[in-house]
Amino acid sequence: MPETDPHSPAFAARNILRNLHDIMASRTSPQAKLNQVVQVIGEALHSEVCSIYLLRDGALELYATRGLNQAAVHVTKLALGEGLVGTIAENVEVLNLDEAMAHPDFAYKPETGEEMFHSFAGVPIVRREAAVGVLCVQHADPRRYAEIEIEALQTTAMVLSELIAGAGLVDAALVRGVSSHDSGPQDLTGLKLVDGMAMGIAVFHQPRITVEHTVAEDVEAERHRVYSAFRKMREQIDAMAAQAEFGGTGEHQDVLETYKMFAYDEGWSRRINEAIDSGLTAEAAIERVQQRTRMRMRQIQDPLLAERMHDLEDLSNRLLRIVSGQLGTAAQMGLRQDTILIARNLGPAELLEYDRRRLKGVILEEGSLTAHVTIVARAMGVPVLGRVPNVRRLIGEGDTLLLDVGEGRAIVRPNSAMEDGFLSKLALTNKKRAEYASLRDVPAMTSNGKRIKLMINAGLRDDISAMDVMGADGIGLFRTEFQFLVSATLPQRERQQRLYREVLEAAGERQVVFRTVDIGGDKALPYLREDHTEENPAMGWRAIRLSLDRDGLMKVQARALIEAAAGATLNVMFPMVSEPWEFDQARDLFEAQKNWVAKQGRSLPVQIRYGCMLEVPALAEWLDVLLPKLDFLSIGTNDLTQFLFAADRANPRLAERYDWLSPAILRFLRRVIRACQAVEMPLSICGEMGGRRLEAMALIGMGIERLSVTPAAVGPLKAMLRNFDPDDLGPKLDAWLDYPEGDLREKLVDYATINGVIAD
Ligand code: PEP
Ligand code: MG
Repeated sequence: MPETDPHSPAFAARNILRNLHDIMASRTSPQAKLNQVVQVIGEALHSEVCSIYLLRDGALELYATRGLNQAAVHVTKLALGEGLVGTIAENVEVLNLDEAMAHPDFAYKPETGEEMFHSFAGVPIVRREAAVGVLCVQHADPRRYAEIEIEALQTTAMVLSELIAGAGLVDAALVRGVSSHDSGPQDLTGLKLVDGMAMGIAVFHQPRITVEHTVAEDVEAERHRVYSAFRKMREQIDAMAAQAEFGGTGEHQDVLETYKMFAYDEGWSRRINEAIDSGLTAEAAIERVQQRTRMRMRQIQDPLLAERMHDLEDLSNRLLRIVSGQLGTAAQMGLRQDTILIARNLGPAELLEYDRRRLKGVILEEGSLTAHVTIVARAMGVPVLGRVPNVRRLIGEGDTLLLDVGEGRAIVRPNSAMEDGFLSKLALTNKKRAEYASLRDVPAMTSNGKRIKLMINAGLRDDISAMDVMGADGIGLFRTEFQFLVSATLPQRERQQRLYREVLEAAGERQVVFRTVDIGGDKALPYLREDHTEENPAMGWRAIRLSLDRDGLMKVQARALIEAAAGATLNVMFPMVSEPWEFDQARDLFEAQKNWVAKQGRSLPVQIRYGCMLEVPALAEWLDVLLPKLDFLSIGTNDLTQFLFAADRANPRLAERYDWLSPAILRFLRRVIRACQAVEMPLSICGEMGGRRLEAMALIGMGIERLSVTPAAVGPLKAMLRNFDPDDLGPKLDAWLDYPEGDLREKLVDYATINGVIAD
């Protein structure tokens, strides 16, 4: 082993770490520890000078030195980017020079007395990805430090970062992992997914692991920990690949391939192993290698590589979580008050794990308008800003955030003027909300006296109260699968029944439409996993397809609904019906269960009304056959549009590509509306489209009289309706659709403006 030679640099490196271990464990002050560190390193590397600079109040302050004038300690300060030390910190890079003064960035500080030294090597002290200080050595003779000595300095810098963070020697924002460039306020922009405003504290869905201990007690034990973490990680990645549905978040196959490539990369595991050899703990070794890769990559300006870096970063974090045993998400760790959750993406079930009273907002790197996680967030009343690039790098855990989704922005680390501005806007928004709330008892009526039935979409127990708060006419879509999503196991009949009864009791005379479970797609249940995997789950074995094949599930639900609605009217709706026979089978199943309940001598609903959702375009070709079978029809525009446009509703790249107000959608809807009008079939719209004012204006202009929308949209829609005369818009819209020309959205905006319809 090379480190047995006492004169070798490797021996020096090992020796430094051993000494650092003792210094760290000693009961002296942080300053005294820094003083000892510079001595140990100076001696080990035979360097006349060793100094530590720390970033304080935006400047790099000389904190400890061996070899420079002691009077310069806490006096010499360099700005970021100033001198060699400032350059190292700013660029988070290593400098290794045999002639320091020849470097263009050299800045002479007379009080230090450094003019007699020639060679210079410095490394940044990094906390997560930002420099919090610089560790450097200087030598009287011009000589270049060996690679292994630089390595030793970097390892020392890592141990120092632990000491510095723990002792509060640098600015708190830096310790949280926000880079020195970004420690001030920062404006982030993204896509509006769920409107709303919130002020809160950043919490990472998958918390970044802070490496607590850097110096190993037992090298072999650490090696063993890393080996088994690698094994576990590879198993996880292989399992993901086998499922073809990465982490339930719909990430792309490319990412998975890259993950696989990194997970099995020998170079990566070897470098971690080497870091362990130098005496680091498993966590510190992983972090150390990650830092080094980050530094290298920073010098390569290639966006494609940057993307890959992101993946390696993810994987490295995964390895860290495995090795440190911190596998849970923030939801399992006890959420702090006023949390704003930061994630790359989330599944609906993952979001539902969070305590909604504490969760004030969500910021996602991905996300799209009709992904179920967005719908769930909307149902929870949690604002969501999506598609914010680099969000996990620009925000530090614990940062204050001002989230204003309406403006499509979030301010990170705001100053007090920004906070004041935000709070006064929030007060105004709350006032507006209060105005909408004052419309609670006002019926939803157009200016020409047409009563529109405005209902809400719901699915969680807490949503029920929204009906009263918003003054809605009922629940037009109760997504029963939400109960399944929040449960760890399949909810038993009694539990289902209890929820349905509560909903019906809360609704009183108002209508409630229960949709049978729409499981599958992006609403996968961990306890209902099938052997086979699906390449395209949104078009796969989901909703009614799954329910008819697994009819045990539907039978239980049917009984629960029938029993819960005893003595009342039960409205049942089937999702994703593609052909009439699916509806027939589902209804027959319900009727059979009704007979079973009757046979048990239990009381029945006074009436069961059966309806179905129109989400699959093919069903529109069956209307003449289907409508006579139905009591009502509801159009699910979320799925309908994804199938009409062949555009995955959860794909962030397609989130803004197609418009709900395109002639393709509106003509399709017009056809269905006309067919329903001809046979007086009650028809509603229950997709997200109906909750947006301009879209709702168009729908009502085309003859829609029932909308089921997100609760927060009820007040704004009532306000829109007040100045809106659908009989006036109707013929105009018809003409625009007959001869599409130009941008229909623009035409509708102009129409609203000219006629004073509030439809922003
Ligand atoms: C729809 O598809 O429009 C709909 C309302 O159902 P979900 O969003 O639950 O799929
Ligand atoms: Mg749907």
